[in-house]
Amino acid sequence: MTESRVGMGIDFHRFAAGRALVIGGVIIPHTRGLLGHSDADVLTHAICDALLGAAGLGDIGTHFPDTDERYRGISSLTLLEEVLSLLERDGWIPVNIDATLIAQEPKLTPHFSAMKESLGKTLHLLPESIGLKATTSEGMGAIGRAEGISAFCVALINRGVQ
Ligand code: MG
Repeated sequence: MTESRVGMGIDFHRFAAGRALVIGGVIIPHTRGLLGHSDADVLTHAICDALLGAAGLGDIGTHFPDTDERYRGISSLTLLEEVLSLLERDGWIPVNIDATLIAQEPKLTPHFSAMKESLGKTLHLLPESIGLKATTSEGMGAIGRAEGISAFCVALINRGVQ
């Protein structure tokens, strides 16, 4: 028999000058990047929280506190690898993830295939098991003023039970 669970994750990061814009493990050419203790990969953080939530393992801030110097500037794909290890310890494997990015700028859709490749490699998932969508907020609110980017993600995980 198989046990399945779903989880959700949400993240926000504000833009800052002089930083690389990293989303889904891909460096995206832009005038600004996102601010954060790690590489501030907003999509990967939402994925981490969705997976941790599905497994009942808390959140990214608990496992990788931004007060910990070990995580300064770290690639969020490394954090995602660690999340995967935590899940595997409890017998869980990801089945699929589905995420939406909300950003007024830049255009993210052209980078989706590269993101699916890097995330798929880390999560051991095929590109078709990774849903990526992007929308603007129609100019409304902080995201609409291009102050930052947010990401929402759901994840399904499975484990075999005797
Ligand atoms: Mg974050």
